[in-house]
Amino acid sequence: MNRGTVIVGASVGGVRTAQALRSAGYQEPITLVGDEGVLPYDKPPLSKAVLAGTATPEAITLLTEQQARDLDVRLVLGRAGRHLDLGAGLVELDDGERLPYDDVVIATGSRARPSPWGRPEGVHYVRTLADAAGLREGLRRGGPLVVVGAGFVGAEVAATARKLGVAEVTLIDPAPVPMGRVIDPATAARLGAVHRDNGVVTRFGSQVEAIEQIGDGLVVLLSDGSAVPAANVVVGIGALPNDEWLASSGLVVGGGLHCDERGRAREAPRVHAVGDVARWHHPGLGTARRAEHWTNAVEQAAYVALPTDRVRLERPVRHHDPDRRAHRRRSAAGDRRAGRSIGADDGTAAVRRPLCHGTGSARGSRLGRLAAGVHRRTAGRRRRRAAGGRTGGDQSALAAYFATR
Ligand SMILES: Cc1cc2nc3c(=O)[nH]c(=O)nc-3n(C[C@H](O)[C@H](O)[C@H](O)COP(=O)(O)OP(=O)(O)OC[C@H]3O[C@@H](n4cnc5c(N)ncnc54)[C@H](O)[C@@H]3O)c2cc1C
Repeated sequence: MNRGTVIVGASVGGVRTAQALRSAGYQEPITLVGDEGVLPYDKPPLSKAVLAGTATPEAITLLTEQQARDLDVRLVLGRAGRHLDLGAGLVELDDGERLPYDDVVIATGSRARPSPWGRPEGVHYVRTLADAAGLREGLRRGGPLVVVGAGFVGAEVAATARKLGVAEVTLIDPAPVPMGRVIDPATAARLGAVHRDNGVVTRFGSQVEAIEQIGDGLVVLLSDGSAVPAANVVVGIGALPNDEWLASSGLVVGGGLHCDERGRAREAPRVHAVGDVARWHHPGLGTARRAEHWTNAVEQAAYVALPTDRVRLERPVRHHDPDRRAHRRRSAAGDRRAGRSIGADDGTAAVRRPLCHGTGSARGSRLGRLAAGVHRRTAGRRRRRAAGGRTGGDQSALAAYFATR
């Protein structure tokens, strides 16, 4: 009997892989394993609509039990993959169940980089539905918010908190401007100014030394000797791939599962990886890279689900070089509405865009126009690179991020 496909990780990468397999006509068994004890859900709205209270947890569900039944996908929730036995072709779960596979797709994503300053009560991450609910409850109780890390998640949390009416929001980052690693200094400085215009106090160029609990509250101590009081602190200092559980398999992990340019583990071609955990070889750059973007997870899922290697070769994957025209086409097709099903560009898979995309807080705002300008410039750079110049760079990551909004 065919063993079918086991997908480990049940967020957008895993769910989209299961859906794309069925859309492509795959008829073997599919098992989707997720370690969270709730139905699969989408992450981008956590720092936006869910935190703001304009979307319920149900609204961001990616796959209901009925939908799983309709797709003939076995949904195994609340259990984690803990070992991959390549020789036997088995995924071992944390409760000891062993799932045989012909193909296995690793979609275990990433987690919040842990706070180096500890986690006294009131210190939050924003990575899961439970995290977002905990932060929302903390904000509801009132008091100042300090956000450490002015990357995408930190910036969104600061903006959402202001929208919710939190009077004192301080955004701290060691860099002199936000997102200076991925955008040019002038644009980064303008992003900082937009935060200040929105009433956020920015402490850029400041290092956090410690987060201490004093009485019922917290205090964030900075390297310049100052202290910022807080009722809630969000630590948003990046993410780490969930690849440790694969180390015992003998696969090459470290900064994600190392794959060839078609998303197959180098030592085991029937092991595939998609999304935040996947470190795919990028032929244009001559190196492997990992992208933490919704669109990347969806496109990689659609690609690994293509029926055979031959078909995959005929349809080379777009290495997360998001195409603005594709975005326009989707918009023109009326996909502005939250959760609307659309066909992927190559028609191989049905994908849905998350609730926040196209309806995010930046849309139509000054921040949104700024983002569009950044996007235009990075798209121009991409065209020049494609015409023979230097390839790659973090700018495309930023463009990708904004392209999905
Ligand atoms: C707050 C927030 C806002 C974001 N906003 C945007 C945005 O606006 N635009 C954008 O493009 N991207 C955004 N992102 C990034 C985007 O959400 C991720 O790139 C995307 O979720 C990656 O999907 P994934 O399926 O690869 O991984 P994940 O979403 O990380 O999901 C992996 C799943 O696997 C589970 N898992 C982990 N280990 C195991 C195991 N051993 N066994 C079983 N299950 C396991 C995890 O618990 C999780 O449920 C945001 C992310 C966050 C956290």
